[in-house]
Amino acid sequence: MLAGANIHTVEDFLKYKPFRYEDRTDLRPIGEIEPDQVVVIEGQVSITGRYTTPMKRMRIFEMVLKDDSGSVKAKFFNQPYLGQVFQRGKTVILYGIPRVDEYSQGISMINPEYEILAGGSDETVHCGRIVPIYRKIGRLTTRTLRKFIFQLLADLPDQLDEPLPTSVVRQYKFPDRKSAIEEIHFPSPAAGVSKEAYLKELALNQTMAQQRFIFEELYLFQLGLQLIKKQRENRSKKRCMRMGKGVQARMRSILPFQPTSAQARVLKEIGDDLCSSRVMNRLLQGDVGSGKTIVALQAMVIAIENGYQTALMAPTEILAEQHYHTVCQLLSGTGYRIAFLTSSVKGKGRESVLGHIRSGKTNLIIGTHALIQKGVQFKKLGLVVIDEQHRFGVLQRSKLISKGDLPETLVMTATPIPRSLALTLYGDLDVSILDEMPPGRQPVRTIVKGERNREEVYACVHRELKEGRQAFVVYPLIEESEKVDLRAATEMAKHLQKEVFPDATVVLMHGRLKVEEKGQLMRKFRAGEIQVLVSTTVIEVGIDIPGASLMVIEHAERFGLSQLHQLRGRIGRGQHPGLCILMTEDLRSQQADERINILCQTQDGFKIAEKDLEIRGPGEFFGTRQSGMPEFLFANIVRDRKLLELARQEAKRHLRHYLKSSALSPQEEFPWLDKWWRQRYGLYHVG
Ligand code: ADP
Ligand code: MG
Repeated sequence: MLAGANIHTVEDFLKYKPFRYEDRTDLRPIGEIEPDQVVVIEGQVSITGRYTTPMKRMRIFEMVLKDDSGSVKAKFFNQPYLGQVFQRGKTVILYGIPRVDEYSQGISMINPEYEILAGGSDETVHCGRIVPIYRKIGRLTTRTLRKFIFQLLADLPDQLDEPLPTSVVRQYKFPDRKSAIEEIHFPSPAAGVSKEAYLKELALNQTMAQQRFIFEELYLFQLGLQLIKKQRENRSKKRCMRMGKGVQARMRSILPFQPTSAQARVLKEIGDDLCSSRVMNRLLQGDVGSGKTIVALQAMVIAIENGYQTALMAPTEILAEQHYHTVCQLLSGTGYRIAFLTSSVKGKGRESVLGHIRSGKTNLIIGTHALIQKGVQFKKLGLVVIDEQHRFGVLQRSKLISKGDLPETLVMTATPIPRSLALTLYGDLDVSILDEMPPGRQPVRTIVKGERNREEVYACVHRELKEGRQAFVVYPLIEESEKVDLRAATEMAKHLQKEVFPDATVVLMHGRLKVEEKGQLMRKFRAGEIQVLVSTTVIEVGIDIPGASLMVIEHAERFGLSQLHQLRGRIGRGQHPGLCILMTEDLRSQQADERINILCQTQDGFKIAEKDLEIRGPGEFFGTRQSGMPEFLFANIVRDRKLLELARQEAKRHLRHYLKSSALSPQEEFPWLDKWWRQRYGLYHVG
């Protein structure tokens, strides 16, 4: 069970941090409970019972908890098994907010947190102190985990190894590791500190013990990033590209339009990298529609003209196919040999593609994850471009890179990481930003409508269709209810076709369709044979349909802000201004309202990302593992921005000192680092 939670060692276990604490130093006598204030109480179960409410058919378990001073009722909804848990006579701790019961006028606790006390000598672990509450792991309850961790702590040696430099520990007055880890699990205020103030600090992750581990994590992360970058910079490459007159003419020849000045600037940054003696590792950030593709393509032309193969990897088959289509068109005059590889390229066709990549006959290969599989071998891979990098993990990125002899790497993303974070997070990459839209881009007007405006919204779609334009209707698919949602989307598509837009062609596209089917639908939509494309979010990344001017997003409140911004970036790409209608429930919370309104107010993806990150927190914003973003046990890169910056500076200082004066290998100088990074990133090697 522990392994399932990524706990393999004692250290891992000790870093399993409580998600909150309960003050059980003085339990409130039950007779003194007041409504609407958080309390912890302890008492004996005296009466229990179960019943079902007549109206809403809710199953309720009820019990009365008693101590010497009085008794209180506790109610639990839809957890009938609790009858087994709360047997009469058991000693129980309840944590929650007592409320005045509207029926009986007495006070009861509704769905409180609970813990059964077992009695015996180890009760001092669970009571009479500020107690850690852990998230359950499999069947291991908070109580069991607490017992284990208490024991582990008791068995620890007095001195633990210290990954932070002594000077840093001293400067920030961090407690030593042993007392800090004890305080994380079993905190208590230092002498002279009021308990209330201390509890507040604990809840805000601001005790010195917490800050210490947050800092440690960020420091090791930053040190690793910077070391990787230094090492890459030091490695001289055998490759050397040049941008002579001929190459420049070729680059110009493929341009279908005048590049924006941002595109020109970024291209120069990339060109300088390619022609320098350092290997390029560059992140290109640019809002949806800012024109990243052509910049990448020009970089690829440089590599090909210098005799290298190049690869372009996209996160979905639809996008890979679209890239292939665009690239073939733009490069039609060059005579380059371009190949396409996804999992749907099979049999003889696949063999021949693989053969040509191996022999070096293919100049440019476009594909999906298929490119990083075993059978793919390059003759002379010089440049790798990864589109929509936030969809790939760090691991996939390094796998493709390992196919060549340290190829130049360009990763592109339209999920703008707020500027304040980009440099610190992507410390191992150089960052270029496309901060200008191509001219003539039509702004997308965004409005919010409710269920009651549905007719009006349809009328609006009608008008666009009459003008010969096309529309997207987007449905959210949420994983756990995917089937239900898919049914809803399917029915919606039918309804729209039959009752609402009988004269138009309405088609449903969703993630479960076969790749070829999806590709075919997109081609038809682009060709104008389909007027209304009802779709789940499979259209989110990179799709380019100039004829589509209108997008209706159903249940907009279920999407993240950045995702909505990406979605609406699909329209307004032709001559007509785009209109994006966000459909939401008529009754929204104020917070949901605020969130959605940001989209109506700004088109700036960076601003939106910043807000989104703030509202949803980094875990959800980056989509955890998928994103290739670091996962931290203690730190939260938004909340702990200040410490992140301090950690970056300290890491930099330490590294500079080491490079100047130490004869040790990186493993000897930073014995913690390699292990820490390997646990998180597998493939990455530091040192
Ligand atoms: P993204 O950055 O989202 O990947 P694309 O590269 O797909 O954006 O570009 C979006 C659209 O803008 C494409 O249709 C592309 O041809 C067009 N485009 C890109 N750069 C320019 C430019 N400088 N002038 C005019 N159109 C451009
Ligand atoms: Mg793109």
